[in-house]
Amino acid sequence: MSEQCSWCGAPVDEDGGFRATEPEGDRRAAFCRLEHVVPWIINGAHWEPGRIVELGDDGVALGVCAQCGGDLGDTRVLLVRHRGAHRIADAFCRLDHLLEWAKRGGRWRTGV
Ligand SMILES: [Zn+2]
Ligand SMILES: [Zn+2]
Repeated sequence: MSEQCSWCGAPVDEDGGFRATEPEGDRRAAFCRLEHVVPWIINGAHWEPGRIVELGDDGVALGVCAQCGGDLGDTRVLLVRHRGAHRIADAFCRLDHLLEWAKRGGRWRTGV
C-alpha cells in the first residue's frame, strides 16, 4: 500500500520519498520529495496520527540536530528518506530547523 504526500497528495512509494515524524506527539507525515516539506511546514504542518514503525526507535540515537547541532528534546522531529531498501534518517531539535534544512536542499545542498 502506498501513502500519499502530505502536501500534494501524490502517491509515495515504500521505496521512495520521505517520511517525517514527531515521536513525542505520535504524529507523522509523508512527502513525495524534499521540496514539499517546505510549503507543508509554512502552511501549518498538518500531521497525521501515527508513527514511523520501521525506524525501530524514537530517534534519540541519532544524537544531535542536523541543522544546528543542538540536543534533541521533546520537540524533536525526524525525517527519513526512503531509497530502495535504504532508510536515511536525520533528526532536528524542532520543526523550524527541519524547515531551514529542507529549504537549503537537505543533505545534498551545495556550497558547503
Ligand atoms: Zn508531494
Ligand atoms: Zn536545531
